[in-house]
Amino acid sequence: MSRVFQLAFLLLSLAVCLSTQHATRDAQTVLAAGPPHRNVTKSIAIVGAGSGGLAILKTLLDLPEEVRSSWEFALYEQHRDVGGLWLPDPNPPHPPALPETPLYPRLRTNTPHPTMTYPGFTFRPGTPLFPSHNYVQQYHADFAQQFNLSPYIHLNHTVLAAGWRGNNTHGEWVIDVEYDVGTKVLRRSFDHLIVANGHNHYPRIPHWPGEEDWLANSPPGFPQREILHSIFYRNPERYANQTVVIVGGGASGRDAALQIGPLAKTYQSLREGSVPPDGAQVTVKPPISHFTNTSVVFEDGTSLTSVDSLVLATGYEFRVPFLSQSPPESGIDFPVLEVAPSTTANSTTAQVLTSNLRYIFPLYEHIFSLSPAHPPTALAFVGLPVLIANCPSDRAQALLVAHAIADPTILPSRDGMFTALLRREDNMRQRGYDPYVYGHKMVGGDTEAQDYQNALVRYLKQHGKLPDDGKDYVESWRKASRVQSALLARGWTRIESEGEQQKWLEGVETEDEWADLMQRLAAWQEEWENEHGQGLDEYAAV
Ligand SMILES: Cc1cc2nc3c(=O)[nH]c(=O)nc-3n(C[C@H](O)[C@H](O)[C@H](O)COP(=O)(O)OP(=O)(O)OC[C@H]3O[C@@H](n4cnc5c(N)ncnc54)[C@H](O)[C@@H]3O)c2cc1C
Repeated sequence: MSRVFQLAFLLLSLAVCLSTQHATRDAQTVLAAGPPHRNVTKSIAIVGAGSGGLAILKTLLDLPEEVRSSWEFALYEQHRDVGGLWLPDPNPPHPPALPETPLYPRLRTNTPHPTMTYPGFTFRPGTPLFPSHNYVQQYHADFAQQFNLSPYIHLNHTVLAAGWRGNNTHGEWVIDVEYDVGTKVLRRSFDHLIVANGHNHYPRIPHWPGEEDWLANSPPGFPQREILHSIFYRNPERYANQTVVIVGGGASGRDAALQIGPLAKTYQSLREGSVPPDGAQVTVKPPISHFTNTSVVFEDGTSLTSVDSLVLATGYEFRVPFLSQSPPESGIDFPVLEVAPSTTANSTTAQVLTSNLRYIFPLYEHIFSLSPAHPPTALAFVGLPVLIANCPSDRAQALLVAHAIADPTILPSRDGMFTALLRREDNMRQRGYDPYVYGHKMVGGDTEAQDYQNALVRYLKQHGKLPDDGKDYVESWRKASRVQSALLARGWTRIESEGEQQKWLEGVETEDEWADLMQRLAAWQEEWENEHGQGLDEYAAV
């Protein structure tokens, strides 16, 4: 995005921000001091009805009746339905205004759906193994319906600001929630705030020297040159017959490469060690170095003069805007979360909860805020880990959050939590990963992701909060199928090309039956590959 474009974006954001504040001031702010019912003993606000928010709501409701009967729950979701980023944006705005979701029409899961589920709750019978996005949204809606979550979910309610009034042992949240878009703001207080706002909403946009001049010098007779983040990507057809550079090799870059490759002259700019997806019709280039008026220049000194568009599949920033803004006229004058991209503070020295846009710190187990401003259970995050199957991980995190809210004494002391956090960060450093760059990424792949979930649940078993069945939380079939994800993707591609999906899906309903299907499919595909070599994989297996 050009500096001019970026400036326009900033001005637009400012205008939106100011107009929201204006609407807030003009609106009748409804003040509800404290929980509405006198017999409420604990009040909990949850932000977001994606997989994280639904997981924590259900898990809180699962607590024994005698524990939670006098608790109040409110889940605020800014959009019209549940499902988070799996809910399409019916009217995506023009860039640079951000769409509600990065979802694009051809988005399918990049892992087999039985491995993505909340334990014990399967996708509907007949769901293709690598389903399109609408099945995943439906899954979340089914989950909300099955467990009667709707009475607690306030759709079309946007949390504008949340501030903590109190100290590190007690206090309350003051939360402003907008409803009836731009006209009404409800101010409520809560004891606990659980943030499940997702981390695929604020694009990370790198900049290179010379990009403004390159953008401003489209050759006559050619389309306006363009640099857009993958959050804006919708259809490959708009790139037909162009020359395109896709930057990045993560899941979004991979999908863009597979989809745009056949329609355009496509290059993929990748870091050393990264490779394009199997079957992608792209030419690999190293990272971009700079732009000239005519060319995109790469770090190896090569350049491309005919480029029309860049797709930046460069990931997302960790932001929680409502925590970085205190409710106006609330008497709370410092925000809970400081955004400091180039801070030198770390988990030990930070005076406030901080996001350097890649990592929110200090957090215990990626969940509880160790900010000195409030008690650890006052503020919890669900869904921050990256490179993990979200629903099962959200559920494991939610179990710890729910039990810690019910009984904060199960958590280690604040010092103990700090020690554990610093140990985790050190462990990442020893493996060559800067924790302030890799942040919430499960850099050790599936093994680390599964160990993380197992440890959360084991902890609760050891503290007598869950029955100890002697088993790991992550089931062995789920583990095995994650390992075989790429093989399964190639197998399912072959089944689809042979039109055999119905035959495979027939009669498959329970978790065990889905596990069995994946096992049979892996064996079937392996046998074929032993004879014919590796097949084609149309889906990302991460
Ligand atoms: C393109 C793409 C493809 C992916 N594919 C896969 C896949 O195949 N398999 C997989 O396991 N994972 C995949 N993921 C990872 C994905 O992030 C998770 O699957 C998961 O859905 C994230 O859930 P979440 O609840 O954490 O966040 P989200 O789904 O983003 O939900 C957050 C919710 O919070 C709401 N919210 C935010 N701020 C506010 C506010 N101020 N007030 C009220 N509500 C608010 C949002 O509206 C949203 O509904 C993909 C991610 C992307 C970007």
